[in-house]
Amino acid sequence: MTPPTQKIRLILDLRRAGITDTGLLSALENVPRGLFVPDAFQDQTWEDTALPIGHGQTISQPTIVARMVQALNPDKNLKVLEVGSGSGYQTAILSYLFRRVYAIEREGNLMQLAEDRIAGLRRHNVTGRTGDGSLGWPEQAPFERILVSAASEEIPPLLWDQLAVGGVMVCPLGEDRGEQRIMRFVKTDNVPDVEDLGPVRFVPLVSGRAQRRIAV
Ligand code: SAH
Repeated sequence: MTPPTQKIRLILDLRRAGITDTGLLSALENVPRGLFVPDAFQDQTWEDTALPIGHGQTISQPTIVARMVQALNPDKNLKVLEVGSGSGYQTAILSYLFRRVYAIEREGNLMQLAEDRIAGLRRHNVTGRTGDGSLGWPEQAPFERILVSAASEEIPPLLWDQLAVGGVMVCPLGEDRGEQRIMRFVKTDNVPDVEDLGPVRFVPLVSGRAQRRIAV
């Protein structure tokens, strides 16, 4: 199958799996996933799988990106905080669906690559930061939407504090290498609304800044 055919097949599969947001479907069609995939895996760009991107991290599976982004109820009037931007693929998708995207990644090299790729796509509404995303981005809070792309055992409390009342947080919860579920929370004045969006396997949300590694 040629790459355009593979892409069309993937988009059809996503529709069949319940992805109906038209803005999201066209963003998935417009963002060249190959730009975010290492050379060695270019032939798998449009397969519905996670792929290695170095630093022990992966670019997420398209179905998971689509399901998590759709669960945010994208809205062009709102700003979104993304924690764990990795390759920047999902960040690029978000940039088509929100007014502004604040993206945090703890691996400085990944953040730099992601920012270069996104600039190459001429998306000018993304601001990136290297650091510990579990601390959020207090200067820009509150956020109407928060998307966490790494798993933790509990809702990261500082992120919850930075979510606006009425806002939506999508976050994988569960143990590292154990059972994890994508959870969707709506913040209310009292008990949050909670929805379970199904099983997933993510790398853990690691607190603290990534250490500089010395190659030997
Ligand atoms: N959705 C991304 C992949 C996310 S993988 C994509 O499609 O490319 C999870 C990412 O979270 C990894 O890049 C990892 O380095 C990052 N991460 C883990 N803990 C973090 C933290 N505390 N703050 C910011 N980023 C973190």
